[in-house]
Amino acid sequence: MIGNHQGLNTDGWTNVGEVVIKNGGIHLNLELIKAPKKCIEYVLVHELCHLVHHDHSKAFYELLEKLYPDWRKTKIRLEKLMV
Ligand SMILES: [Zn+2]
Repeated sequence: MIGNHQGLNTDGWTNVGEVVIKNGGIHLNLELIKAPKKCIEYVLVHELCHLVHHDHSKAFYELLEKLYPDWRKTKIRLEKLMV
């Protein structure tokens, strides 16, 4: 099981729950499905970045920035939704 997300707490979106990437598929928490598409997109890109970097290192955020330049705004939006 790759990407079973243990970084959720540090990301500040504990309530999003678990995003698990296994067998080539991505499993999302049902709570997340209720979120706007943009937020789901962000979580997916975030998870995909973890396939390359298994932490929240500088390199991880550099990759995230490249793939999803809007991530900060979307993360804030998601956090507000999940409170
Ligand atoms: Zn993460």
